[in-house]
Amino acid sequence: MKKKLIEIVDSISKKKIVEIFLDLINVNTVFLNYHRVLSDLEFQNIYRPNNDLVVSKKVFENQIIYLKENFEVISINEIHQKKNNKRRVVITFDDGYFDNLKNALPILEKYNCPATIYIATSFLDNKVTPWWLLAWKIISSQKQINFNDKILKISEKEDKKNCYEMICRELISLSKNSQDIILNNLTDNNTIEENNVKEFLSSKDLIDLGKHDLIEIGCHTHTHQNLKTLDKEDIHNEIINSKSILEKIIKKKINHFSIPYGSKNCFDDKIIEQLSAYNFKTIVTTEHDIFRKNKCNRIPRIGIGNQDINGRFHSKAIGIDSLLNKILKR
Ligand SMILES: [Zn+2]
Repeated sequence: MKKKLIEIVDSISKKKIVEIFLDLINVNTVFLNYHRVLSDLEFQNIYRPNNDLVVSKKVFENQIIYLKENFEVISINEIHQKKNNKRRVVITFDDGYFDNLKNALPILEKYNCPATIYIATSFLDNKVTPWWLLAWKIISSQKQINFNDKILKISEKEDKKNCYEMICRELISLSKNSQDIILNNLTDNNTIEENNVKEFLSSKDLIDLGKHDLIEIGCHTHTHQNLKTLDKEDIHNEIINSKSILEKIIKKKINHFSIPYGSKNCFDDKIIEQLSAYNFKTIVTTEHDIFRKNKCNRIPRIGIGNQDINGRFHSKAIGIDSLLNKILKR
């Protein structure tokens, strides 16, 4: 039923009536949330879970062309300015993957599109590998794993994907210690290969990005933990550490913050209140909602993936998809 409704909305999203409705309720700016942009070859050849967080270069370029033709792509620092009547989008990337520089930036430059990149500073220079990459590394290389006192057989691709999704759902709400215990026990096999793939930006990359006219650097905490698992002091340290690391590297003030994971089970009103005390100009989430200029300490964003083309992409970029998701409580 929900799926059908979304399909109907996607198919009518380009109709004038939808725009008139959005004007009436004053929706004119939408924040888009990307994570990774892979080369077309990497995208095709590497089997990976959660494809909705990854786009290929080709799809990304088509999305940017579409935005340039139909929207005004603005910088996060321009959200309070009103230039013309075009609908507006703000492009954001989370975590600080190297492919943002390697694959996304040349396309952003080609079409002169500004974007914000939020960095989780412990991932810089590939010093720390996030738990979701470690979990996938183990799951993709093993035929069975130990989870919740059970042995799970995961020889088939589909089993690996389901298993990964199940483990992610559990790990996202746990403290770092509990995550480490589960990850350490997933396999008795100690021969998981270290890969030397440069997944994340280096400090040197960040210096270059910090100087770039189209790029705004934002903070995404230091260790990317679910803020609900931390106490007030730990949250304070996460913010202060990452903000000062970033400011030292790019030699500019950090004005924008992205909540790790960003969904409702990863923050609450109290956390928003605490975060608001650091005078960030904006705080972004991944909630489904309408962006209101007077609520810049809790900005909704819509995730963009490789399936988002045609009506699907349009309906996300104009904000009708977010609104529908909020109403349907997806
Ligand atoms: Zn993140």
